[in-house]
Amino acid sequence: MLISDIISSAEKAGRVRYIGKSLYGSPIPLIRKGSARPGGVLIVGTVHAREHITGMLITELMRRYSGDAPVDAVPYLNPDGAVLATEGLTAFTLKNAERLALLRLNGGSTDYSQWKANLRGVDLNVNFDAEWGTGAENVRVPGPANYIGPYPESEPETRAICALMDRGAYALVVAYHSKGEEVYWGFRNIRTYRAEAERVAKELGYALKETPRSAGGLKDYRVLKTGLPAFTVEVGKSSFPHPYPVEELPNLVRTHENIIGVYNEIAEKVWKERRNTT
Ligand SMILES: [Zn+2]
Repeated sequence: MLISDIISSAEKAGRVRYIGKSLYGSPIPLIRKGSARPGGVLIVGTVHAREHITGMLITELMRRYSGDAPVDAVPYLNPDGAVLATEGLTAFTLKNAERLALLRLNGGSTDYSQWKANLRGVDLNVNFDAEWGTGAENVRVPGPANYIGPYPESEPETRAICALMDRGAYALVVAYHSKGEEVYWGFRNIRTYRAEAERVAKELGYALKETPRSAGGLKDYRVLKTGLPAFTVEVGKSSFPHPYPVEELPNLVRTHENIIGVYNEIAEKVWKERRNTT
């Protein structure tokens, strides 16, 4: 999977604009569907490099979506990571020192298929400004996973999605990960929108879960900053390996074929309630 593949698949799915650039300078595409009014849905995928199946799934769901309700999607928030995990180091033009540093971070191996971080070993899903650095699995040195970065939102990918969320007037944000067939909701003592999360879990046939030990995640940031609903969806069965087999994509699409409609209904209700109380 190359950056050009990511961009051309996005362009086939809908109107595309770019929310910023990755560390390596890859454009991060946003697919926009439906009308331009506020109160829509934002779906984000491939926060973790090896979970690039979520980018393929979201792009396909957006390609099929033809409704009027506003839906934005960033299928590959970590495009460099997706390229690294699928193509390895040779897909990048790197200085020798950069190449050696990335090899060192990967324990000397040229197999990056299990890599989760961005191109300098920061795990984007612990890099957000939400009780940053207090997560149970946080790591303080760069590596394939769990490194929180030198400070909150230190990474261009994190800053790009924060800027989009902060100006986008979304009613619902959903972050896609793989795997385990689970829906996560709430953050710390903010435990609103359980019923909405349960509805998503029921539609997908997934388990509803809380993440009391997580911090610095995209969902965490969104819940903490806005009080509006944000969920994490872990697609696919845990019995499959990382990266999730591409042959299973049709099954994931089938499981998700009505989910955007559910997200839209939740967004509409949440936005209406919010208008009535402000
Ligand atoms: Zn993940």
